[in-house]
Amino acid sequence: PQKENLDIHDIIEDVIGFVRHHSNLENIDINTDFGPRLPLARIDEKKIKQVLINLLMNAIHAVEREGTITIATGINAATGRITVEVSDTGHGIAKENLSRIFDPFFTTKPTGEGTGLGLSVSYGIIKGHGGNISVKSEPGQGAAFTLTLPVSPPNS
Ligand code: ADP
Ligand code: MG
Repeated sequence: PQKENLDIHDIIEDVIGFVRHHSNLENIDINTDFGPRLPLARIDEKKIKQVLINLLMNAIHAVEREGTITIATGINAATGRITVEVSDTGHGIAKENLSRIFDPFFTTKPTGEGTGLGLSVSYGIIKGHGGNISVKSEPGQGAAFTLTLPVSPPNS
């Protein structure tokens, strides 16, 4: 489990490349809104890519045919941490499911289409980085997942 000091924007560009084929099959735009002057993140590249791919594939699934996915980055003013928000214009999450989506095996997808493991694994990875993952959703309008990640310590 190697943590390195990496540019989160490079990681995001790579991950968009992995999922582009899936969004191109439908009318789904993937946009970026990168904040200026972000410090390097202290992360395990493969694991953070796994988290971002999970979030993007969920977003593509939720949008279905036509819509927009936006990946925005910035710095949390209070904590100084890097924030990555993956938002979509998909079907959103029902209020009664919001507290369950990070549970292992919770899925609303038909049998055989979803394992319900993506978000629980992602939660574990982000916690293992000392970060956080949270969700907001307006049913019928979309969902937004926000990650916070620690920055590289000075002189590293
Ligand atoms: P799976 O994708 O296999 O269902 P996940 O753990 O990735 O498992 O997601 C769990 C559930 O959370 C999904 O079945 C879906 O109900 C909900 N969900 C996750 N991401 C989104 C999203 N972007 N929009 C709407 N619902 C979502
Ligand atoms: Mg999933």
